[in-house]
Order: sequence, then C-alpha cells, then structure tokens
Amino acid sequence: MLKSDLSSLQYPPAEIHAKREEVRRALLQSSPHLNGGRITRILESDLKLLFDLYDQLFFYDYFRDQFPGQLLFSLSARMTKTAGQTIYPRNLKELFPHKERYELRISVILLFSYEKLDRDKAVNGIKTRDSLEALQLVFEHELCHLIELHCFKETSCRQKRFQALAVNLFGHTESGHRLPLMAEIATAKYGLSVGDRVSFQAEGETFSGVISRITRRATIMVPDKNGPYRDQEGRRYCKFYVPLHLLQKS
Ligand SMILES: [Zn+2]
Repeated sequence: MLKSDLSSLQYPPAEIHAKREEVRRALLQSSPHLNGGRITRILESDLKLLFDLYDQLFFYDYFRDQFPGQLLFSLSARMTKTAGQTIYPRNLKELFPHKERYELRISVILLFSYEKLDRDKAVNGIKTRDSLEALQLVFEHELCHLIELHCFKETSCRQKRFQALAVNLFGHTESGHRLPLMAEIATAKYGLSVGDRVSFQAEGETFSGVISRITRRATIMVPDKNGPYRDQEGRRYCKFYVPLHLLQKS
C-alpha cells in the first residue's frame, strides 16, 4: 500500500466492527497483562501490540513495512481529562521522513476509572461496553491523528479532513469521549464538588478549607495567615492535595 492511500482508506460499518472485534480478540490472546474487557493493569508494550494489530488489520502493515520514522507508545497517570494524545515534533514540516517521530499517549486514569460510574460511556460517538473497548476507540482517534500527521504534516480533529478519515476508517461519528472524569466521580461517589467546604486530618491536626480543583486528588485551599497563596481580597491560604475518601464535608 502507498502512503497516499493511507488517508483514503474506507471500510463498510460491518467490516469495521468485525476488524475491531478481531483486534480485541488478538490483543487479549497475546497480552500477558490483559485478561478481559476490564483493564486493571496495562503496560506500554500492550499499546505496541495494539498498534501492530491495527496496522495489520486496517493498514495492510503499512507502518511495519514502509513507515520510515519512529513510533513510541506511552501511558500517562497525569492526563485526567484527555484520554489520548499524539505528540509530534514542532518542526515536523522540515524533517526528512526518517526523522518523523510520533508518540501515542493514553491516559490510564480514565481507563482505570471506567467502571466507577454506571452510565453510557460513548467514545467518538460509539457506545462502549468496557474499558478495553474504550481504549480501542481512543487509540483509533489517535491513529487518525497519526495518519494525518504522516501524510499532511498537520492535524486537527475539528477539521473536515480528519472527520472524514475517522468516519471512513473507523466509523467515528464525533470526536471526544464521555468517560467518567474525576470531578464527576467525586460528586457521584462522595457528594463532593468544587467550592464545597471540607475538613480533613493531616499530620495529627484537623484542617478545613474549600475544594478548588478535583483531579486524582482534591486540591483544598486552607486559610492560613502565613500561607503562600493569596486571593483577590488579600486572604492567605495553604494548599493541600487530599485523596477524596479522606475528606469530610463540613
Ligand atoms: Zn483529537
């Protein structure tokens, strides 16, 4: 297959579905870390396996046989809202093909939080049944970015070209995910939201303050006349990062 054919690949919906299921089956068979649709452990090598399967089933092994550059796969424990990201050199347009370097990064936070809420969790407009399927759909979105970057040296999932590629190749009807986010989980499971007054124990003392942000932990601003943070009225605060289950609503 030619590089120029990559961006015009098109599969009928039934074939997309069958290929996606085949990727899932083969991944579960070959990964020593994944043993079902619920992901509790995953390594970067699993993303490489996943990539090879997509390459084989959707791209005729173009990347294995003809892609001249370098591909990296990473897992992020810091991405709490973005499910996937494709990282590329700023000067991509000036690089020789063999210097092309792309990194596909996936959030493990969102995968591991998948089960925490019981509601529809569509990714790219497609309903998912478990975190493995969510991973595949997030990964497919990044594959579209990779193809655009490789073929056109630029990419945007808000543009028509990307959207046509994503629908033709993978049947994605939109971009983005509805996976449970930490703030939503905090509200559903602990009744906590940004702006709530809370108290907690630290270093044998009880502190109280206000939740200013919720990611993996909650950020609590605690009034303290010597604190390094200051609001517009000049009040001073200390900042604490506290796991949600240690917070008491006050
Ligand atoms: Zn995107």
